[in-house]
Amino acid sequence: MPIPLLDLNAQYASIKEEVNAAIQEVLESQQFIMGETVRDFESEIAKYIGVDYAYGCASGSDALLLALMALDIGPGDYVITSPFTFFATGGAISRLGAFPIFIDIDPGTYTLDPVKLSALLKGESPLAERLNLSARDIKAIIPVHLYGQMADMDPIMKLAKEYNLRVIEDAAQAIGSTYQGRAAGTFGDFGCFSFFPSKNLGAYGDAGLITVKDPALAEKVNILRLHGAKPKYHHSLVGINSRLDTIQAAILRVKLGYLEEWTAQRIGVAQRYRQLFTEAGIVTEDWECCSGSCKESGGDECSLTEEQVLLPVERSGTNHRHVYHQYTIRVKNRDSLVKHLKKHGIGNAVYYPIPLHTQQCFSELGYTEKDCPAAICASKQVLSLPMYPQMKEEQIREVVEAVAGFIKR
Ligand SMILES: *Cc1c(COP(=O)(O)O)cnc(C)c1O
Repeated sequence: MPIPLLDLNAQYASIKEEVNAAIQEVLESQQFIMGETVRDFESEIAKYIGVDYAYGCASGSDALLLALMALDIGPGDYVITSPFTFFATGGAISRLGAFPIFIDIDPGTYTLDPVKLSALLKGESPLAERLNLSARDIKAIIPVHLYGQMADMDPIMKLAKEYNLRVIEDAAQAIGSTYQGRAAGTFGDFGCFSFFPSKNLGAYGDAGLITVKDPALAEKVNILRLHGAKPKYHHSLVGINSRLDTIQAAILRVKLGYLEEWTAQRIGVAQRYRQLFTEAGIVTEDWECCSGSCKESGGDECSLTEEQVLLPVERSGTNHRHVYHQYTIRVKNRDSLVKHLKKHGIGNAVYYPIPLHTQQCFSELGYTEKDCPAAICASKQVLSLPMYPQMKEEQIREVVEAVAGFIKR
């Protein structure tokens, strides 16, 4: 039996009656835009995350856009983010006419490297000099909590404060994850969440959420998502149409009730992967290799060998929770492993094969591969393996056996 990267059928089967009833209820009410269901979901998820203000919107991409719009970011402004993320993070910045500053990742956690961030802000990096950043208006930082693990928020928040920068957390992959016991979305001025169907809390279509810390900015976001109108037909701002669909809110209300259980199961699957990979004798803990030579060379001199698999590096300490949106390993011959897994019917995916700083649409910004070599190296070696709450022991074993079979071939 093939093992998919993600099995949403298994999840739907387990909640089918509840979800169908929730959808039916919306159909009977004929209230498809906003309304009580959306408000109830917003207050329930605000409580779950631990924030005062949470607003549904049409997608995670729109959540990022709304946060930047609420800060009046536009042409002439510079916004710092990671190049190793889904396109939407960088796209939102560019769409508003602002300039994305891509800072390299920490190769262990694949999130924004605070050391590189500090160097850039101090004007001590080649990129800072080339972009003449001391003369620029840097407005905000968008740290991305990738694969379900949070960025290194302590140093990032400290630097943001020191340089008077706003923080927008891209928490699209990280609902329920924590850093020092605090949840994703509670650190920055904004938290942006996605309920794209494959995310840990997935809707049955596009959907998103934005959390806001400051009450005045919260009200601005609330208005911006409704074309800037309040009351209706009185436009104080030029906003967009980005609401959370009421049917999606009804579905998400049901699913939110299971999120903690599903997250615990994901963590269980990750632990099982680690045990089985370790028993197979192919694991290296030496991810430092990637912060050494790869950092400079973009992987050409990577010391990871063909006999090794690098497992996800969890932030040490008990107060950090990785919610395993993806279970992403690192191998030297990634593209051959992809072919091998396909042959064995095992789902897999590369997130992300092309870092944003080298995307064609950003070529005018003048970045080169060398600006973010750790991201380049990661893009050649990462591979996400099947991961979903309902994964069975036999399936986890089969995935590990297939990877081990390739490594030991
Ligand atoms: C999914 C995702 C988004 C965008 O969310 P959509 O709901 O698909 O628009 C943004 N950032 C990251 C890191 C994501 O994974």
